[in-house]
Amino acid sequence: MKVRTMDFDNMSSEELCKRLAEFHGHLGPYLVLGAKMGLYAKKTLSSSPFEISAEITMPLKPPLSCTIDGIQFTSGATTGKANLRVSDGLPIKVLFYKDKEGIVLIPKEGIIEKIRSQVEHGDLEMLAEQIMKKDYSELFEVEKWVKQ
Ligand SMILES: [Zn+2]
Repeated sequence: MKVRTMDFDNMSSEELCKRLAEFHGHLGPYLVLGAKMGLYAKKTLSSSPFEISAEITMPLKPPLSCTIDGIQFTSGATTGKANLRVSDGLPIKVLFYKDKEGIVLIPKEGIIEKIRSQVEHGDLEMLAEQIMKKDYSELFEVEKWVKQ
């Protein structure tokens, strides 16, 4: 069977938010942050969900860990395909790689702070939509990574 994966390049941010929410169960800012990370990795490394691998380090507690579902949804690196590994801990970082080359994405402190400050009282769906529209450079730092 020929499988065509979702065409994120030709999907509006509204449509992507809708599909993320259907997959994950709600639309939240961390979910969207993860989705943006996955999209960036896919664009930078490989569009094939079998060629890309991810290693995530973060505290494994919602809402922060909602990020992981966003990453799986857009990058194609998933627990089930065994090309995604998750470790509980700090600092938060997400390594994506293909073969021996990769990138490490580190969320900007400002964006984590902004989400954290709104988690209790803010409109999280609106914040999620705002994050979806932001440029990658506003969301995370990117470092090159090479397998030793
Ligand atoms: Zn969530």
